[in-house]
Amino acid sequence: MNAIAMTINGRSVGTGATFPVIDPSTGEAFAEAPAASPEQLEEAMATAQGAFASWSRDEGLRRRALKEAAGLVMEMAADLGPILAQEQGKPLADTGIEFEASAEWLRYYADLELPREIVQDDAAAYAEIVRRPLGVVAGITPWNYPIALAFWKIAPALRAGNTLVLKPSPYTPLSTLAVGQALQSVLPPGVLNVISGPDPLGAAMTAHAIPRKLTFTGSTATGRKVMASGANDLKRVTLELGGNDPAVILDDADISAIADELFWGAFANNGQVCVAIKRIYVHESRHDELVEALAERARSVAVGAWNEEGALLGPLCNRPQFERVKELVAEAIGMGARVAAGGAPMDRPGFFFQPTILADLDEKARIVSEEQFGPALPILSYSDVDDAVARANAGPFGLTASVWSSDPIRAANVGLGIEAGQVQVNGHAMGLQPHLPFGGLKSSGIGVENGPWGLHGFTDIQLLYAPPRRAAA
Ligand code: NAD
Repeated sequence: MNAIAMTINGRSVGTGATFPVIDPSTGEAFAEAPAASPEQLEEAMATAQGAFASWSRDEGLRRRALKEAAGLVMEMAADLGPILAQEQGKPLADTGIEFEASAEWLRYYADLELPREIVQDDAAAYAEIVRRPLGVVAGITPWNYPIALAFWKIAPALRAGNTLVLKPSPYTPLSTLAVGQALQSVLPPGVLNVISGPDPLGAAMTAHAIPRKLTFTGSTATGRKVMASGANDLKRVTLELGGNDPAVILDDADISAIADELFWGAFANNGQVCVAIKRIYVHESRHDELVEALAERARSVAVGAWNEEGALLGPLCNRPQFERVKELVAEAIGMGARVAAGGAPMDRPGFFFQPTILADLDEKARIVSEEQFGPALPILSYSDVDDAVARANAGPFGLTASVWSSDPIRAANVGLGIEAGQVQVNGHAMGLQPHLPFGGLKSSGIGVENGPWGLHGFTDIQLLYAPPRRAAA
């Protein structure tokens, strides 16, 4: 496959320099992607700055453009699905949801009606909150949901009146580059620029003087660098970072009824979901039953390459991720964990790892205390629910959490004790919807995406304060 071009100022921009894109189901390069030069980064930033004035003034145009973009995204799904699947590793059948979600986000922000925020209108004064777009936004995305997470940024940033320079992960650049090209037919030149390159390009974007806002989804370690890099110019930041989501299973849960949902809450996208269940705390009276129910599913789930008929899970997306999962599982086993299913790489090329269920763990094992981001699930037991909540709250993360019980009120009360941006009863991470706020507590992030809150994150507040419109009584 030839390299897919970048998009700067509405034009397709190739480059002499490229980097390889690896198919994780083989471990071999299958394409090249352009590596933006410093001059191309300059051009992308300058062009986005130039496009800002007219774009930010025409809300009608922005809403129409987002609507048209939603239609385009759905048309692209068939052609881009295989590219997304091959670079990311996910089964082809799982790519449709990324395009559907992207169109949904675009439509949501196109339709969102924002009420005027008049905070005072009396005999003393008139005071109104104005939400001003910021200017150029630099957007940086990870490799697990390259398309959907790009639109979590594109839709609200553009709707609010900003222009964008977007950089996908170097592991999965192709589908985002292709989307950037296709959207030019519905956007004025310079409004959305998509450039690609290895990690230092991200660092150069965040340090650049032009962007007024950095919107970043990725690891907590990189998030810290992004925030530090923006500090000089006091750039606004939204950081959606790592998680180590707990699921707490109460003693009255119906294990056979919830086992499927728990399994997919942990193993969807091969565990490479920021909001995947990463640890289960189950009441000791239900421990063995739960371990067996999940192990049975892990042993029988079909794993295969993106284009293998019937595959429900793929490989890890890249070698560093594969090595990390291997290392954390091996460490846990070395510390005494019992392997109920899986436990090792699969015997085939590429970055395949067996879906793994671990029990009887030492809680100090890093697979419990750190983000593992792969197809391995540690199951821990508790006798006292307060102790389970305290253990769920241990550690730096606070993305999402869930509590499972036959009594939803009881589960909700337990859940509210967990430090997480979203807490769910009898389900996990179903709150990732365009109208619902999503953001991490603690080291899982700063700021909120989605809904009006996400849109407001792409604006500054300006107060208009004026003499009263009404004469004093
Ligand atoms: P990563 O932090 O390694 O990379 C993310 C992006 O940052 C990539 O585009 C990368 O090129 C870029 N980057 C790398 N170094 C940079 C720097 N110094 N400055 C600026 N940009 C830089 O993360 P990843 O491995 O691609 O993604 C996995 C992580 O993302 C996991 O921790 C996962 O939990 C997290 N994630 C979070 C959410 C969320 O919404 N909270 C969603 C998906 C993934």
